[in-house]
Amino acid sequence: MECPECKSTRTSKNGHKRGKQNYLCRNCGRQFVDRPTTNRGYNDQLKRECLKMYVNGMGLRAIERVKGVHHTTIITWLKGVGELLPDAYTPEQIPDVGELDELETFIGSKKTKSGCGQR
Ligand SMILES: [Zn+2]
Repeated sequence: MECPECKSTRTSKNGHKRGKQNYLCRNCGRQFVDRPTTNRGYNDQLKRECLKMYVNGMGLRAIERVKGVHHTTIITWLKGVGELLPDAYTPEQIPDVGELDELETFIGSKKTKSGCGQR
């Protein structure tokens, strides 16, 4: 079992919590239950804040900088929890992850050409 905090596999069983197997990380001391939610450690509060920022006109990159959540993660949330969003939300406004990545690659290659990182 891998620790969700430090990714260490030095964990041991630590009894049961609400019917679930509880584990204790011997590396960082964190306790966790078997297979927590798949939201990669982001809690609902943070999620809602990010989505609210997006709905209020903030760009995904801006949210990424402020909240430290990768923009592709936010897009996944936008697609998954549309029903939680206020009325202003329109699914058509969600950019495609693939397009964003292409843009990123484009910018990256431009930088490399003008820089001195040639091999
Ligand atoms: Zn740990």
